[in-house]
Amino acid sequence: MQFSAPTTRITDKWLFAMTVVFVVALLVLFTNNALNQPRQYFWPAVTEWVSEQNQASYESILAGPDSAWQEAVNPINAGLSDEPIWLRFTLPVTQIDQHGTYIDIGYPLLDSIDVWIQHGSETTHYHAGDAQPFAQRDNKYHGFLFPVPDYGSAVSVIMRVQSTSVVKVPVKIWQQKAFWEHISNTNLVMGLFFGLLLAIALSNLFFFFTTRTLTFIFYTGYVICLGLTLATLHGFAYKYLWPAQPWFQSKAISLFASTTLIFAVVFSASLLEIRTYSKRLSTVFNALAGAFGLIAASALFLDYAVSIRIFLVLLTITVFLIMGVAIWLARKKVSVAGYYALAWGALLVSAFTASLDNLDIVAISIPSQVLLLYGATIEVLMLAFILAISYSRQRDFMLSAKEDALEKEREAVRAKQALIDLQQTTQDELEYKVGERTLELEIALRELSEANRELEKLNTIDPLTGIRNRRHFDKRLQAEGRRSRREQTPLALAMVDIDHFKSVNDQHGHSAGDACIQHVATILQQQLKRLSDDVCRYGGEEFGLILPNTDTAGAQQLLEAMRAEIEANPCQFDGTSISLTISAGVASGVIAFGDEETSLLKTADERLYQAKQAGRNRVVAEQ
Ligand code: GH3
Ligand code: MG
Ligand code: MG
Repeated sequence: MQFSAPTTRITDKWLFAMTVVFVVALLVLFTNNALNQPRQYFWPAVTEWVSEQNQASYESILAGPDSAWQEAVNPINAGLSDEPIWLRFTLPVTQIDQHGTYIDIGYPLLDSIDVWIQHGSETTHYHAGDAQPFAQRDNKYHGFLFPVPDYGSAVSVIMRVQSTSVVKVPVKIWQQKAFWEHISNTNLVMGLFFGLLLAIALSNLFFFFTTRTLTFIFYTGYVICLGLTLATLHGFAYKYLWPAQPWFQSKAISLFASTTLIFAVVFSASLLEIRTYSKRLSTVFNALAGAFGLIAASALFLDYAVSIRIFLVLLTITVFLIMGVAIWLARKKVSVAGYYALAWGALLVSAFTASLDNLDIVAISIPSQVLLLYGATIEVLMLAFILAISYSRQRDFMLSAKEDALEKEREAVRAKQALIDLQQTTQDELEYKVGERTLELEIALRELSEANRELEKLNTIDPLTGIRNRRHFDKRLQAEGRRSRREQTPLALAMVDIDHFKSVNDQHGHSAGDACIQHVATILQQQLKRLSDDVCRYGGEEFGLILPNTDTAGAQQLLEAMRAEIEANPCQFDGTSISLTISAGVASGVIAFGDEETSLLKTADERLYQAKQAGRNRVVAEQ
């Protein structure tokens, strides 16, 4: 599911604009306050020694003609020159405070400064400069500060300044009270600035640790190197970080300015994802970063004057390249590129201007260090902001990509489930159908076996009389024989034959004969008392009886009753009453061995024969 952004959410554009307005307002406020303060220092009117002669020593300068001194513009900017420059000015008594007066040279990178303060025949000499370890300074001020002794009258000051780096000599005169006010304000602002850089550097370092995104570490490197450059430029680095290493101090600006640019270039390439837009451009960026790396390394050995010149050339190229690329990408609608161009613009323009000012190519009204500071503050804040936007966008993108992938996976799972369901349904249906078929088959089988049984039954029924036939008799005889033997119960058998049946057929016809057979069968059937007793048509007009668990006497009695019943009930056929009699032979016994029932039947048959012999219409059970 996609969430639409709530309408109250502040867009990046607005947030960016607000940040810029906030920072600029803050800076304007600071500057405005500073400008509105009554000026608490003096720019003394300085003259500079312009003659080529006698530059060797203080004494020779002192002895030189007044015409060798010419008016100079304070602050003096001699650009890149390692020639010593000599300055002279007079402090009138009105500018000397009894509580203390300071000569402030507000450019902390000068190699060597000598100050001679003259009053009549008395001379006070100071020596300073960053070629000397910081610890040896008379006062532990991050810039150069020389107290003016109070002689109660005007003093004359001669200065000798020499530096392999840029020679700028802003000479200010401070009353003690105003100076300490000024310095506490400056320290607060500088403290805020470096604190801000440190906070941003640390937070980005932590972002790097948690996200492993290289852009963050590049930015951290950039902010730290920028901070070190500015701290060196303002004299704080020498005071706090390497007070005993004047050699390092002399290389620090080139070193840190170059490393700042290395990080600036790789950070830009990483943030703007230059690689994805142009491989060639990416190579150019890498080459630039490498070039700055070379400058950083060579800065330790090369003259400052040489390395700073190469640096400035490369810096100019970099400024235009990065700005150009940022504008190009912004026009390609790469969202962060526009902000990025603005942010870089702030610093690069100020750095560029400051550099030009340092080299005395242009002159600007606010001190170049302060200009750099402003540019850096705006830029560092904007970049931190852009980095946050960029990261958050990337994360959003990754989240949505992840969500897409999850949705695809869910779809796949759903499809799989559907397939499984289908398989299940198919299987269920199949099983159901098989079950149905099996049931049908079972029913058919049952029906078949019932039909078989029916058929079997039909097979054992005599169609004329409806009683069992000879086939059934034989089976039953065998089964009852086994039972008798097993249970040791007597089995009685009887053979019955209708007397003189041939003559019935002869006299009344075969149909009458058939009716008579039916008649006799019915009576025999009716006379049976037990369910287990069975009467079958043995053949023709003969019947066989099986009487399980019946002894001879019982069987004889039953047969006698049958005989009497038949004699008493002639067969009625076609209006004619046909008298009938039967003869029967009975035998009974417990079957002792297999097949003995056959011989028992034979006995019954023999006795039937005897009954016939003895005159018919009788039952013979014994010999
Ligand atoms: P006896 O008293 O010695 O038994 O004399 P009988 O006439 O009954 O002689 P026998 O038992 O030898 O003859 C049987 C006769 O019964 C022969 C045959 O014509 C007749 N018969 C056999 N089966 C049937 C039948 O299904 N229907 C008819 N109508 N007559 C049959
Ligand atoms: Mg017979
Ligand atoms: Mg007969």
